[in-house]
Amino acid sequence: MQVFEPKSQIETSDNIATKDQDDKHNASKRTLPPATIGILGGGQLGRMMALEAREMGYRIMTLDPTFDSPCAQVADSHVQKPFNSVEGAIELAEQADIITYEFENISAEVAHHLEKTSHMPQGYRLLYATQNRIREKQAIEKAGVKVAPYYKIQDEADLHEGLEQLDYPAVLKTTEGGYDGKGQLVIRAEEDLLHAIDMVRQSKQPLVLEQWVAFEKEISVVIARNPNGEVATFPVGENIHRENILHATIAPARISESVQKQALSVARKLAQTFELVGLLAIEMFVLPTGEVLVNELAPRPHNSGHYTQQGCMTSQFEQHVRAVCNLPLGATDLHTPTVMVNILGEHLDDAVGQLTQMSSHMKVHLYGKKDAKPKRKMGHLNVTANTIEEAFSQINHLQIWDPIE
Ligand code: AMP
Repeated sequence: MQVFEPKSQIETSDNIATKDQDDKHNASKRTLPPATIGILGGGQLGRMMALEAREMGYRIMTLDPTFDSPCAQVADSHVQKPFNSVEGAIELAEQADIITYEFENISAEVAHHLEKTSHMPQGYRLLYATQNRIREKQAIEKAGVKVAPYYKIQDEADLHEGLEQLDYPAVLKTTEGGYDGKGQLVIRAEEDLLHAIDMVRQSKQPLVLEQWVAFEKEISVVIARNPNGEVATFPVGENIHRENILHATIAPARISESVQKQALSVARKLAQTFELVGLLAIEMFVLPTGEVLVNELAPRPHNSGHYTQQGCMTSQFEQHVRAVCNLPLGATDLHTPTVMVNILGEHLDDAVGQLTQMSSHMKVHLYGKKDAKPKRKMGHLNVTANTIEEAFSQINHLQIWDPIE
């Protein structure tokens, strides 16, 4: 197996043109410490990735337009340029030995540039698919996995046709750039139609209309694959959303063995079909029949995988680093029941105020964001306990959030 040397030792200006081909031939190359990992994006996912990578002896460089971003605070260096500036990407590619990303909204121009001129083992194909809800659904279906019935909406006529086919209630979503329920409109009945028509008229991009899923539970699986083809799944997490934002993840998920098997098998199928490198988080709906539908994919560490930091031997962030650097993957078994709760802007003061009273099985992770706006993710709390109920009782005792059960 070839060892990938830090770029400072191998870079010459004339090997850049052949890099694309080289990368294909070097699918199994490893990136070892003290190589520099370049992270596109400077948010909390990049921060936690960087902290784990530093523990492993890597150096970190981040590209993000914001001064003192969560990731920049813990990185060795920071290219403070817009995400979509090719100039910034060139700077990152020149100085980093390997490139990864912590969010999806990377322009095709930047991604192609990086793919050509640097070592970006995750590639661009899966990222491109997940940047757009319709492309994503098509890719999932092509892999033989089910999603909720949907309809592509380009104009008002499509909306009427889509509603006729899918019926009420349905949810209209932007195809690009939406997160945490932003850019979504639930159409419960005909009364909501005017709002929906407005959304279609104002949208500069096609929208997607999805059938409303009367799910019993929401679950997710984070799966890792390295270029050598080694695959590891984390235990299924059960997700509780409040106002469309993830509130808590419970591991192990309170689901039957058959649902668990389906969820893990969906994850493996997608990872194999997409020839995944790095992490893939798969959010799923569990129907009352026990059938599982995929809701959304994220080709990176995911909020619903934060429980792994205290619940598993290897966190999702360490696993991401191992996977992209082509190291052997770490063990993913759940040591102990773990519940993760998000600390949003409105919870921050209470969470910090209660730090000194928290039990020894609670661990607070804060992201270093200055501006604690309501609904903004500022940190999370991981609680380990003998049982999920015990973890709930400890969380409820803090009285920071409405009770969880
Ligand atoms: P998304 O941004 O697509 O992950 O949606 C955020 C949350 O909205 C999901 O986690 C669900 O709780 C809810 N949601 C989204 N789409 C649907 C749907 N088709 N049916 C029911 N609930 C949905």
